[in-house]
Amino acid sequence: MGRTIIVSNRLPIKIINDNGSLTYAASEGGLATGLDSVFKSGNNLWVGWPGIALDDNKKSEVTKTLLKQHMKPVFLSAKEIEDFYEGFSNETLWPNFHYFNQYTIYEEDLWIAYKKVNQKFSELVCDELEDGDTVWIHDYQLLLVPEMIREKKPNATIGFFLHIPFPSYESFRLLPWRRELLNGMLGSDFLGFHTYDDMRHFLSSVSRLAGLGNSNGTIKVKNRLVKADALPMGIDYDKYAASASAQETLIREARYRKSIGSIKLILSIDRLDYSKGIPQRLRAFDLFLTRHPEFNGKVSLFMVVVPSRDAVAKYKQLKEEIDLLVGSINGRYSRLNWIPIHYFYRSFPLPALSAFYRISDVALVSPMRDGMNLVCKEYVASKLDHKGVLILSEMAGASKELSDAIIVNPNDIQQLVGAMYKALTMPEELQIKSMKSMQESLKRYNIHAWVKLFMDQLRNVKNDQINLKTKTIDAAIELEIQAAYSHSKERLIFLDYDGTLSGFNANPDDSKPDEELQELLHKLTADSKNKVVVISGRGRHTLEEWLKPFPLEIVAEHGVWLKRIDKPFKTLMKINSDWKKDILSLLERYVNRTPGSFVEEKDYSLVWHYRKVETGLGEVRTRELTSHLKYMTANANLQVLEGDMIIEIKNSDINKGSAAMKLMEIYENTDFFMACGDDWTDEDTFKVLPETAFTIKVGGSESQAKYSVNSYKEIRGLLNKLIES
Ligand code: UDP
Repeated sequence: MGRTIIVSNRLPIKIINDNGSLTYAASEGGLATGLDSVFKSGNNLWVGWPGIALDDNKKSEVTKTLLKQHMKPVFLSAKEIEDFYEGFSNETLWPNFHYFNQYTIYEEDLWIAYKKVNQKFSELVCDELEDGDTVWIHDYQLLLVPEMIREKKPNATIGFFLHIPFPSYESFRLLPWRRELLNGMLGSDFLGFHTYDDMRHFLSSVSRLAGLGNSNGTIKVKNRLVKADALPMGIDYDKYAASASAQETLIREARYRKSIGSIKLILSIDRLDYSKGIPQRLRAFDLFLTRHPEFNGKVSLFMVVVPSRDAVAKYKQLKEEIDLLVGSINGRYSRLNWIPIHYFYRSFPLPALSAFYRISDVALVSPMRDGMNLVCKEYVASKLDHKGVLILSEMAGASKELSDAIIVNPNDIQQLVGAMYKALTMPEELQIKSMKSMQESLKRYNIHAWVKLFMDQLRNVKNDQINLKTKTIDAAIELEIQAAYSHSKERLIFLDYDGTLSGFNANPDDSKPDEELQELLHKLTADSKNKVVVISGRGRHTLEEWLKPFPLEIVAEHGVWLKRIDKPFKTLMKINSDWKKDILSLLERYVNRTPGSFVEEKDYSLVWHYRKVETGLGEVRTRELTSHLKYMTANANLQVLEGDMIIEIKNSDINKGSAAMKLMEIYENTDFFMACGDDWTDEDTFKVLPETAFTIKVGGSESQAKYSVNSYKEIRGLLNKLIES
């Protein structure tokens, strides 16, 4: 079995250089804490920066020591750390991804450094990578690494997990390097995000910037399936629960209790970061003390701030702001035997944290934005007696899982004050009920489940890739089609119209054949070996008018009507349309509610169009209408088809496949079959054609077709080449 190579900016270790002698200590980031229990097993390896700029003479010693602990260091110079890490990662990507764009800096030099360091990481991984290995890349510092590895190792299995939020397209688009960053991520096979919101923001950027749609999170990138999914990271539940009952923790708790006395405690633990909302929290606590004098002397805020990124100016300013606020609040409210805020600007080891979690009546976790937030989960896991209350910001990824917490908007100071009061006065039974429910969820979705789910998903995508039939047309495939075309004697060519021969227009009447298409159809039908069939969902009158000059066959309304050359339209089967009245009145109700939408009545079908509806609203209404229709048509012989900006309801027996079969019977000597189409009504045509047929899908979504192209222009190009061959 292959190895798992974890790749992250920082190795899960801190190296301290004490006058040339190096000491190694575990680092305290959320990721390090989370994956610790994973990478040490088997032959796995963790690739990353050891967290310190080292002289050359120290590098081999460090490499040797770390290798014994399953780690391989990527050494970065002081300048690289400044530009790639402190610069582009922490002053460009971090604020942009956390919606703090007033702090985002846009500097080309930093971007160049980011690319170079990502290259360095990818080269080291490629040197290690063997067939069967799995690479799991982590976080925003390494967004380009998946694509860089993919270029050198096209078949590699690459997973990527983003630990911070993925911002809305409106924020992401501000970055001058947004396309490169997105393409970098799309080098992965599977991309995990903490929440569904992060995932849909990513997919929206992929659609707007890379022009790639998705089907339930699956994107087709060239000939590769890439999947995105929401996979909230859990904690090592048992580790925190065990630590909460360890002897050392209990001794510490007793000691703290003795010095603090019997007052209540509100706990706050964060890295120093503007995304954590620390000043806002302090202001809320200040207001709480003013508004509830009865709690003065009875409750303290126990606040741990872990030093972080202190080389970045914004963080230094934040530290000063916090110091001032704490000083001001303590100065105003302190009594000889009580201070409102116990403030610690340092990091603590696990036994101390566990004692803090145990001793606190309330945990106040109120970030302005947080990918996940592990502290709140650790707090819940440490509450062995189930007593305690969690106040949690709705802007933290964890709030999607811990809905039994008191959920707050961190910008709403009134709500924060109210939440503190509610938490401090909450009856014990209620505390126990909420805490137990949150614990159940955290136990189940723990770190081991997260790792397993991630790996399973990655494996599934790899399997789906192998099974993927549809290949993008390249020069070699084009030559193959040309050769078959020129060696054949009788050809049957099915061409869908909208999206396949012509682009989409806001006004569908603008889609009539332009000069280029007219010329193409003339040439194509001029060859007596070609039997050309335009097979469309459009009404017969329009098609007849548009295609009159060309000697071709027309299938209209998805197979209701067939028009042979020089003959009038005939229905292909007997069709009942008594059902139309009821469905029409439903569709009209949706038209009334959805400005821009309209109903088209065809002979044997009804179509609801929403291409002129506000983007987003149309999609929402479609989902609603589809489920409504599915219910209404459950026992009727009707089918509901979703096409490009339309929903069509028609008799189940009618489809393009039945019409195509009919034509195949007529032209029984055909030795070259081809079908081109862009939406899923064309799948019926693809399905009924023989194995040898050249079936071509326009667009990236999943298909039964053998080949795909990106747009109708490529279909026109291909047909022209065939005519010339
Ligand atoms: N942590 C720690 N010592 C401290 C404070 C925090 O080890 O003094 C750990 C904490 O247990 C948690 C992590 O740091 O696992 C913080 O993760 P979180 O997701 O809450 O925030 P991040 O720092 O990753 O933004």
